[in-house]
Amino acid sequence: MKLSHEERKLIELIEQEAMLKRTERWSAINSGTRNLEGLSVQANELADAFATLPGEVALCDPAPVTSVDAEGREVALAHGRHLVLNVRPAAPYRFLLTGHMDTVYPVEHAFQQGRWLDADTLNAPGAADMKGGIAVMLAALQAFEASPAAESVGYDVMINSDEETGSLSSAALIAELAQGKAAALTYEPSALPDGTLAHSRGGSGNYSLVVTGRSAHAGRNPQDGRNAVVAAAALAISLKSMEHGELSVNPARIEGGSANNVVPDHAVLRFNIRPRNATAVEIFNADLQRLIGIIENGHEVSIALHGGISRPPKPVDERAQRLFDLVRRTGADLGQEIGWQASGGVCDGNNIAACGVPVVDTMGVRGGAIHSPDEYLIASSLAERAALSALVLHRLATGGLQ
Ligand SMILES: [Zn+2]
Repeated sequence: MKLSHEERKLIELIEQEAMLKRTERWSAINSGTRNLEGLSVQANELADAFATLPGEVALCDPAPVTSVDAEGREVALAHGRHLVLNVRPAAPYRFLLTGHMDTVYPVEHAFQQGRWLDADTLNAPGAADMKGGIAVMLAALQAFEASPAAESVGYDVMINSDEETGSLSSAALIAELAQGKAAALTYEPSALPDGTLAHSRGGSGNYSLVVTGRSAHAGRNPQDGRNAVVAAAALAISLKSMEHGELSVNPARIEGGSANNVVPDHAVLRFNIRPRNATAVEIFNADLQRLIGIIENGHEVSIALHGGISRPPKPVDERAQRLFDLVRRTGADLGQEIGWQASGGVCDGNNIAACGVPVVDTMGVRGGAIHSPDEYLIASSLAERAALSALVLHRLATGGLQ
């Protein structure tokens, strides 16, 4: 191993047991994105834990977010608060570290408790995605802070409460914190259980189209009606046909209509798109506006558009590649072989990359089966990944990217 004396000392400070205890404790708290009470408990636990670092911990109010209900009305969507820690804000060279405290398991979900599958495999809600990752981030920062190199740099930590539903109430906060950062690390679990990192990522957008037609009696005067369900169906078919190699479109749900003898005057079509690059987004948005106009004219309905791209595509540019190379070299020096591959998933790394900041967004634990009751954490990866992060931070602080 090619570690300096200084680096060796950093790693010795990492305590596997403390990380595991935290992960188990945090996994026992239900923090589904819609469980505001659970999120509040989780946020307070995190605030206490991160108060061991320098700087001030704050819990920031979520930005207002609306969604469209089945009737097509825009309704407010409540979110939990987001944790922010600013450390040495005046330092000229600063980083961003991000994680999320929410999970995909609602409070009524059957998966609430952890259990050991074998001596090194913990099956628990959020253990990999990403309460274990947050424990790794904290341990790495604590070790890093013990090094004299830490004094010369600063960083912000952001742990949001709404990543699993697209970070709608934290996107502006992420963009603000990304400004001026030299690099960012996000603690999603590795792309594969062997530690492989996610490299480039496509983007994602969620849309609702609210169609308003005119109701009429289906037998007496159907000619006076303007059928919103038919218009929504026409939209769905056209949207699907807009797919190409750089874009997939998934019309997911149509809601609306009423009794069999009524021409329906209202429908909501929901769909998701996955663009590979920024050009695909631009072309899609222009095509969508054109399609809305065509369907409005052809079906004599009005259509309101809600939503948009929540995760811009994340290409890996030269600067981001240099950060990947640094992580790989650091892993190799620790005896960890780290590869990477493109990912179809999205995360806050997309938002950070869109701000022009190099980011590696799978610095968290090794594990798998995330977003399912089989989610597991490979417990020994806590110390392994914390050592990796602590050294990456140390190398960043001592000119590793220059
Ligand atoms: Zn996650």
